[in-house]
Amino acid sequence: MAGLYQGQGMSDSIFTKIINREIPSEIIYEGDLCIAINDIHPQAPIHILVIPRKPLVNLTEVEESDKDLLGHLMLVISKLAHQQGIAEGFRVVANNGRGGGQAVFHLHFHLMGRKSFSEQGM
Ligand code: 5GP
Repeated sequence: MAGLYQGQGMSDSIFTKIINREIPSEIIYEGDLCIAINDIHPQAPIHILVIPRKPLVNLTEVEESDKDLLGHLMLVISKLAHQQGIAEGFRVVANNGRGGGQAVFHLHFHLMGRKSFSEQGM
């Protein structure tokens, strides 16, 4: 059901435009429920964004009915970490709300690896 959430109109987020191929991006995984792309401004040698097709705003806005989708996103992150050879050490981040540094208001998880995070704390 790749087209399930297409055509949201003028309020489309940049990630919906990427999902709909209106904006180019480096897509490294695509499934029925989500896509994964390389971040355009990587903060680590591997910096992937895992984005649900459903245009959820952020974790503040998710509902009980999104439970399976959220679990699916975590499993995709795990599979991508294995595929990218970073399963032994990686970081997953969701910037949530303006106070949390969120810039794109379409839920996404940052998967970052091949960088030492150990000495940086949070
Ligand atoms: P956040 O909303 O979690 O702060 O971060 C949004 C992320 O999306 C940033 O890391 C930014 O570099 C990335 N980003 C913003 N616009 C684009 C785009 O058009 N293409 C890609 N691939 N990444 C983008």
